[in-house]
Amino acid sequence: MNLLEIQNLKVHFPVQQRLFGGAKEFVRAVDDVSFSIAPGETVGLVGESGCGKSTLGRAVIKLVEPTAGRIVFEGEDIAGLSGAELRARRHRFQMIFQDPIGSLDPRFIVADIIGEALDIHGLAADAAARSQRIDTLLKAVGLDPSHAQRYPHEFSGGQRQRIGIARALAVEPKLIVCDEPVSALDVSVQAQIVNLLQDLQRERGIAYLFVAHDLAVVKHISHRILVMYLGRIVEAGEARSLCRAPKHPYTQALLSAVPVVNPDAKRQRIVLTGDVPSPIHPPGGCPFHPRCPVAVARCKTEVPPLRELEPGRQAACHLAG
Ligand code: SF4
Repeated sequence: MNLLEIQNLKVHFPVQQRLFGGAKEFVRAVDDVSFSIAPGETVGLVGESGCGKSTLGRAVIKLVEPTAGRIVFEGEDIAGLSGAELRARRHRFQMIFQDPIGSLDPRFIVADIIGEALDIHGLAADAAARSQRIDTLLKAVGLDPSHAQRYPHEFSGGQRQRIGIARALAVEPKLIVCDEPVSALDVSVQAQIVNLLQDLQRERGIAYLFVAHDLAVVKHISHRILVMYLGRIVEAGEARSLCRAPKHPYTQALLSAVPVVNPDAKRQRIVLTGDVPSPIHPPGGCPFHPRCPVAVARCKTEVPPLRELEPGRQAACHLAG
């Protein structure tokens, strides 16, 4: 059974109305998205900024309220849950944020930042058990237990992200949504954090939804990749095969910007013109057609469905095959 099944999820935000405004308008941040995550799997979610990936990441763990669709977690639809019902399930899905300093309360020492999660979910029988658990969590993320008495500002960016990971791990989640977890870090530190996430996955069987704009990082950590454009999944597939032979022109353009390790390997850079169009008034037909280098006439009028091209590979493009 899949750990998570997302079915036809939509997140539409109403736009501020003008004083004598006409019809109500919506930002279609996530527009009819479906995918699944297996236990212990890493699914990468990529796209340019403004494509809806962070909203989707937050919506799957109910940090953003979905407009429509189902979020089936371990067989139970949590899309409509709120209040105490949702809080009782929160320990099963957690989030790691892009900005480790902004997500850690500067007034608390590390022991209390991690301990708060244990307290909320009643996961430590007494003070001694709480303290021992915090020590174990700090060791698990490569920090010294003596760090528990320090404040977030006393740490480097990479160490702060490790604290954020320890806090997420405290409640023994089955799924962690990682929202651009390394994009604010130096490249050498990025690799350490990605390796730590992989080690923790091997040890604990955690699944990740890894949200990032950098396909190079996503390619390294993911089992499968979802490519998102204007609120929709435009390509999905097994990570290595998708990166070796992308089918959708948008994925091809994203991949052409990833530096190649082999200096002899030739790859032609596909430069996309223009910005991502407004999700309030997305283009008709294929939403990518105004920027697509290979668009044909029907792309302006016909919406390409996300269809299976081969087992495990889907793309939303009239020309993909
Ligand atoms: Fe480009 Fe047309 Fe394919 Fe859209 S459907 S990606 S516009 S070729």
